[in-house]
Amino acid sequence: MRLVIASRNQGKIREIKAMLSDMPVEILSLSDFDNIPELAEEGSTFQENAAQKARSVMLATGLTALADDSGLEVDYLGGAPGVYSARFAGAKANDAANNYKLLKLLTGVPREKRTARFVCVIAIATPDGQLYYSEGKCEGVIGFKPAGDGGFGYDPLFIVPQYGQTFAQLPPDIKNSISHRAQALTLAREIIAGLVNEERGGV
Ligand code: IMP
Repeated sequence: MRLVIASRNQGKIREIKAMLSDMPVEILSLSDFDNIPELAEEGSTFQENAAQKARSVMLATGLTALADDSGLEVDYLGGAPGVYSARFAGAKANDAANNYKLLKLLTGVPREKRTARFVCVIAIATPDGQLYYSEGKCEGVIGFKPAGDGGFGYDPLFIVPQYGQTFAQLPPDIKNSISHRAQALTLAREIIAGLVNEERGGV
């Protein structure tokens, strides 16, 4: 089976390839095609965004496509930044600006009200029109100041209570075994295994 990852992010592509390396699947990405339209993220949920990206890449390539969408939900902020995580502090915002805005909005908020989670939704669209989803969540607490140099995005502010460390402080292999993306990918593996089986004529 051939599967296109609807991403140009080399880190993401590497992670997904590694997770699927023992499966009989040839993995391609957007870099292998030159006719892919710009992928919009205009939905109001992670599901909508992931589905929209997977469907448009499936239509452009004629192959099964996998797309993900992820972000941070902070309870005190009613689930914000959510689907706006990448552009929380503005369209051209970088990670530092987004983290600064988040800390400002939580000024004076005590630890017990700083609960949050990272969410990742993966959508898989097949050429025969089926759409599958998998979802992963990782619960945590937003710190009072950034800590750690690893990772990206909101990692320096996201404390995982079991470890008492932020995602940016944890060794990458630990983050990658408990993260929202890892959980969604583990479930996506099962969906892909089912599709491979279907293609081989199994049930
Ligand atoms: P996207 O799924 O690539 O669109 O990512 C959305 C945004 O969510 C990123 O730009 C980050 O701000 C945030 N985000 C998603 N996953 C993580 C993570 O594992 N650590 C830190 N930030 C993340």
